[in-house]
Amino acid sequence: MVATHATLWRERRIIYRRLVATDRTPRVLKFIAKRLRRFLPKPRCNICGGTRFRLGPYGRLSATGKKPWCKGCRSLERHRAFRKILRRLDPAQFAAWRCLQLSKDPTADRAWFKSYEVSIFGAENSLDLQNIARADASYDVIICNHILEHVPDYRAALRELRRILDPRGFLLLSFPDPHHIERTVDWGYADPAQHDHYRVFGRDVEAELAAAMAGCQVARVVERDDVTGLTDMAYVISANPALQARLAGR
Ligand SMILES: [Zn+2]
Repeated sequence: MVATHATLWRERRIIYRRLVATDRTPRVLKFIAKRLRRFLPKPRCNICGGTRFRLGPYGRLSATGKKPWCKGCRSLERHRAFRKILRRLDPAQFAAWRCLQLSKDPTADRAWFKSYEVSIFGAENSLDLQNIARADASYDVIICNHILEHVPDYRAALRELRRILDPRGFLLLSFPDPHHIERTVDWGYADPAQHDHYRVFGRDVEAELAAAMAGCQVARVVERDDVTGLTDMAYVISANPALQARLAGR
Protein backbone atom coordinates (compact mmCIF):
# COMPACT_ATOMS: atom_id res chain seq x y z
CA MET A 1 0.00 0.00 0.00
CA VAL A 2 1.30 3.42 -0.96
CA ALA A 3 1.16 5.94 1.87
CA THR A 4 -0.73 8.96 0.64
CA HIS A 5 -0.44 12.41 2.13
CA ALA A 6 -3.85 11.92 3.84
CA THR A 7 -3.02 8.56 5.44
CA LEU A 8 0.30 9.93 6.75
CA TRP A 9 -1.50 12.80 8.47
CA ARG A 10 -4.09 10.39 9.89
CA GLU A 11 -1.31 8.22 11.39
CA ARG A 12 0.45 11.25 12.82
CA ARG A 13 -2.81 12.38 14.46
CA ILE A 14 -3.27 8.92 16.04
CA ILE A 15 0.31 8.90 17.36
CA TYR A 16 -0.11 12.46 18.67
CA ARG A 17 -3.36 11.56 20.44
CA ARG A 18 -1.70 8.55 22.05
CA LEU A 19 1.21 10.69 23.22
CA VAL A 20 -1.12 13.31 24.64
CA ALA A 21 -3.20 10.62 26.32
CA THR A 22 -0.16 8.95 27.94
CA ASP A 23 1.21 12.32 28.99
CA ARG A 24 -2.07 13.68 30.33
CA THR A 25 -3.00 10.65 32.43
CA PRO A 26 -0.10 10.84 34.91
CA ARG A 27 -0.48 14.60 35.12
CA VAL A 28 -4.07 14.20 36.16
CA LEU A 29 -3.13 11.51 38.64
CA LYS A 30 -0.34 13.67 40.01
CA PHE A 31 -2.78 16.55 40.44
CA ILE A 32 -5.30 14.34 42.25
CA ALA A 33 -2.55 12.79 44.42
CA LYS A 34 -1.31 16.27 45.36
CA ARG A 35 -4.83 17.31 46.41
CA LEU A 36 -5.40 14.09 48.35
CA ARG A 37 -2.05 14.36 50.14
CA ARG A 38 -3.36 17.41 52.00
CA PHE A 39 -5.93 15.21 53.70
CA LEU A 40 -3.50 12.44 54.61
CA PRO A 41 -2.17 12.49 58.19
CA LYS A 42 1.25 14.16 58.41
CA PRO A 43 4.13 12.13 59.83
CA ARG A 44 4.08 12.70 63.56
CA CYS A 45 6.97 12.68 66.03
CA ASN A 46 6.39 9.76 68.41
CA ILE A 47 8.11 11.69 71.23
CA CYS A 48 6.35 15.07 71.29
CA GLY A 49 3.57 14.59 68.71
CA GLY A 50 4.95 17.42 66.54
CA THR A 51 4.45 17.48 62.76
CA ARG A 52 7.04 20.12 61.82
CA PHE A 53 10.58 19.10 60.92
CA ARG A 54 13.70 20.85 59.71
CA LEU A 55 17.11 19.98 58.29
CA GLY A 56 19.35 18.00 60.64
CA PRO A 57 22.78 18.97 62.04
CA TYR A 58 25.14 20.34 59.33
CA GLY A 59 22.06 21.05 57.20
CA ARG A 60 21.58 17.41 56.29
CA LEU A 61 18.50 15.62 55.02
CA SER A 62 17.75 12.09 56.13
CA ALA A 63 19.04 9.31 53.83
CA THR A 64 15.42 8.96 52.71
CA GLY A 65 15.34 12.63 51.60
CA LYS A 66 13.14 13.80 54.48
CA LYS A 67 13.82 16.54 57.03
CA PRO A 68 14.82 14.70 60.22
CA TRP A 69 14.96 17.23 63.07
CA CYS A 70 11.75 17.66 65.06
CA LYS A 71 11.03 21.33 65.77
CA GLY A 72 9.14 20.36 68.90
CA CYS A 73 11.56 18.16 70.87
CA ARG A 74 14.74 18.31 68.72
CA SER A 75 14.65 14.54 68.18
CA LEU A 76 16.45 12.93 65.24
CA GLU A 77 15.70 9.67 63.42
CA ARG A 78 17.54 7.52 65.94
CA HIS A 79 15.86 9.05 69.00
CA ARG A 80 12.41 8.25 67.60
CA ALA A 81 13.51 4.71 66.68
CA PHE A 82 14.93 4.23 70.21
CA ARG A 83 11.72 5.59 71.75
CA LYS A 84 9.96 2.68 70.05
CA ILE A 85 12.46 0.25 71.59
CA LEU A 86 11.81 1.71 75.07
CA ARG A 87 8.06 1.40 74.51
CA ARG A 88 8.53 -2.29 73.76
CA LEU A 89 10.13 -2.60 77.21
CA ASP A 90 6.96 -1.10 78.76
CA PRO A 91 7.84 2.20 80.52
CA ALA A 92 4.92 1.67 82.97
CA GLN A 93 7.28 -0.81 84.67
CA PHE A 94 10.00 1.83 85.18
CA ALA A 95 8.25 3.82 87.95
CA ALA A 96 10.49 2.56 90.79
CA TRP A 97 13.66 2.70 88.70
CA ARG A 98 16.66 5.05 88.63
CA CYS A 99 17.79 6.25 85.22
CA LEU A 100 21.15 7.62 84.13
CA GLN A 101 21.09 9.45 80.80
CA LEU A 102 24.58 9.94 79.38
CA SER A 103 24.54 13.09 77.25
CA LYS A 104 21.19 14.79 76.75
CA ASP A 105 18.80 13.39 74.17
CA PRO A 106 15.03 12.97 74.02
CA THR A 107 15.01 9.14 73.75
CA ALA A 108 13.49 8.59 77.22
CA ASP A 109 10.89 10.53 79.18
CA ARG A 110 12.20 11.55 82.62
CA ALA A 111 8.67 11.26 84.05
CA TRP A 112 8.82 7.46 83.61
CA PHE A 113 11.42 7.04 86.37
CA LYS A 114 11.70 7.45 90.12
CA SER A 115 14.91 9.42 89.49
CA TYR A 116 16.52 10.70 86.32
CA GLU A 117 20.11 11.89 86.23
CA VAL A 118 21.78 13.49 83.23
CA SER A 119 25.53 13.54 82.75
CA ILE A 120 27.18 15.62 80.05
CA PHE A 121 30.89 14.91 79.70
CA GLY A 122 32.98 18.04 80.37
CA ALA A 123 29.91 20.00 81.46
CA GLU A 124 26.81 19.35 83.60
CA ASN A 125 27.36 16.49 86.14
CA SER A 126 30.32 15.20 84.13
CA LEU A 127 31.15 11.49 84.52
CA ASP A 128 34.15 9.75 82.99
CA LEU A 129 32.81 6.55 81.46
CA GLN A 130 36.18 4.85 81.88
CA ASN A 131 36.04 5.38 85.65
CA ILE A 132 32.47 6.19 86.70
CA ALA A 133 32.30 7.84 90.12
CA ARG A 134 29.25 5.89 91.21
CA ALA A 135 28.68 2.79 93.36
CA ASP A 136 27.97 -0.65 91.88
CA ALA A 137 24.37 -1.22 90.71
CA SER A 138 23.48 2.49 91.08
CA TYR A 139 21.05 2.55 88.13
CA ASP A 140 18.29 0.40 86.71
CA VAL A 141 18.29 2.09 83.31
CA ILE A 142 21.35 3.54 81.59
CA ILE A 143 20.97 5.30 78.26
CA CYS A 144 24.20 5.67 76.31
CA ASN A 145 23.60 6.76 72.72
CA HIS A 146 26.45 7.47 70.31
CA ILE A 147 29.04 8.07 73.03
CA LEU A 148 31.25 4.97 73.02
CA GLU A 149 32.92 5.98 69.74
CA HIS A 150 34.10 9.18 71.53
CA VAL A 151 35.69 7.38 74.50
CA PRO A 152 39.44 6.58 74.28
CA ASP A 153 39.18 3.23 76.14
CA TYR A 154 35.76 1.82 75.26
CA ARG A 155 36.50 -1.55 76.87
CA ALA A 156 36.97 0.16 80.24
CA ALA A 157 33.73 2.06 79.61
CA LEU A 158 31.84 -1.18 78.94
CA ARG A 159 33.14 -2.72 82.18
CA GLU A 160 32.12 0.37 84.12
CA LEU A 161 28.64 0.49 82.57
CA ARG A 162 28.15 -3.14 83.56
CA ARG A 163 29.33 -2.42 87.12
CA ILE A 164 26.91 0.47 87.76
CA LEU A 165 23.93 -1.36 86.19
CA ASP A 166 21.47 -3.03 88.57
CA PRO A 167 20.81 -6.60 87.35
CA ARG A 168 17.05 -6.01 87.28
CA GLY A 169 17.37 -3.19 84.70
CA PHE A 170 18.96 -2.60 81.32
CA LEU A 171 21.49 -0.62 79.36
CA LEU A 172 20.35 0.94 76.08
CA LEU A 173 23.57 1.25 74.10
CA SER A 174 23.97 2.56 70.58
CA PHE A 175 26.63 3.73 68.16
CA PRO A 176 26.72 3.86 64.36
CA ASP A 177 25.57 0.46 63.08
CA PRO A 178 28.58 -1.91 63.36
CA HIS A 179 27.06 -4.31 60.84
CA HIS A 180 28.45 -2.22 57.97
CA ILE A 181 31.97 -3.60 58.45
CA GLU A 182 33.44 -6.84 59.77
CA ARG A 183 36.17 -5.54 62.09
CA THR A 184 36.48 -2.46 64.29
CA VAL A 185 38.97 0.13 63.04
CA ASP A 186 40.48 2.11 65.93
CA TRP A 187 42.80 4.98 64.99
CA GLY A 188 43.51 5.88 68.62
CA TYR A 189 42.64 9.59 68.64
CA ALA A 190 39.56 11.79 68.26
CA ASP A 191 39.62 12.58 64.56
CA PRO A 192 37.97 15.96 63.81
CA ALA A 193 37.39 14.77 60.23
CA GLN A 194 35.35 11.85 61.63
CA HIS A 195 33.08 13.75 64.05
CA ASP A 196 35.79 13.37 66.75
CA HIS A 197 35.34 9.59 66.81
CA TYR A 198 38.20 7.35 67.98
CA ARG A 199 37.03 4.44 65.88
CA VAL A 200 34.38 2.92 63.69
CA PHE A 201 32.89 -0.20 65.22
CA GLY A 202 32.62 -3.39 63.22
CA ARG A 203 30.55 -6.50 63.71
CA ASP A 204 33.28 -7.97 65.97
CA VAL A 205 32.31 -5.53 68.75
CA GLU A 206 29.35 -7.79 69.55
CA ALA A 207 31.67 -10.49 70.94
CA GLU A 208 33.27 -7.83 73.15
CA LEU A 209 29.88 -6.64 74.35
CA ALA A 210 28.93 -10.18 75.30
CA ALA A 211 32.24 -10.66 77.16
CA ALA A 212 32.15 -7.31 79.00
CA MET A 213 28.49 -7.65 79.98
CA ALA A 214 28.90 -10.87 81.96
CA GLY A 215 25.59 -12.48 82.90
CA CYS A 216 23.63 -10.27 80.51
CA GLN A 217 21.90 -10.98 77.25
CA VAL A 218 22.80 -8.58 74.45
CA ALA A 219 19.87 -8.02 72.08
CA ARG A 220 20.35 -6.10 68.86
CA VAL A 221 17.08 -4.28 68.22
CA VAL A 222 16.17 -2.48 65.01
CA GLU A 223 13.28 -0.02 64.80
CA ARG A 224 11.95 2.33 62.14
CA ASP A 225 11.47 6.08 62.48
CA ASP A 226 8.01 6.82 61.05
CA VAL A 227 8.89 10.43 60.17
CA THR A 228 11.72 9.65 57.75
CA GLY A 229 11.23 5.93 57.17
CA LEU A 230 14.80 5.28 58.30
CA THR A 231 15.70 2.35 60.55
CA ASP A 232 18.30 2.42 63.30
CA MET A 233 19.63 -0.07 65.80
CA ALA A 234 20.54 -0.19 69.49
CA TYR A 235 21.57 -2.89 71.92
CA VAL A 236 19.40 -3.69 74.90
CA ILE A 237 21.70 -5.31 77.44
CA SER A 238 20.13 -6.89 80.47
CA ALA A 239 20.41 -9.75 82.96
CA ASN A 240 16.66 -9.65 83.53
CA PRO A 241 14.91 -12.36 81.44
CA ALA A 242 11.54 -10.59 81.82
CA LEU A 243 12.88 -7.60 79.88
CA GLN A 244 14.25 -9.76 77.10
CA ALA A 245 10.85 -11.49 76.92
CA ARG A 246 9.09 -8.12 76.57
CA LEU A 247 11.46 -7.20 73.74
CA ALA A 248 10.71 -10.44 71.98
CA GLY A 249 6.97 -9.77 72.46
CA ARG A 250 6.41 -12.83 74.61
ZN1 LIG B 1 9.27 15.75 68.57
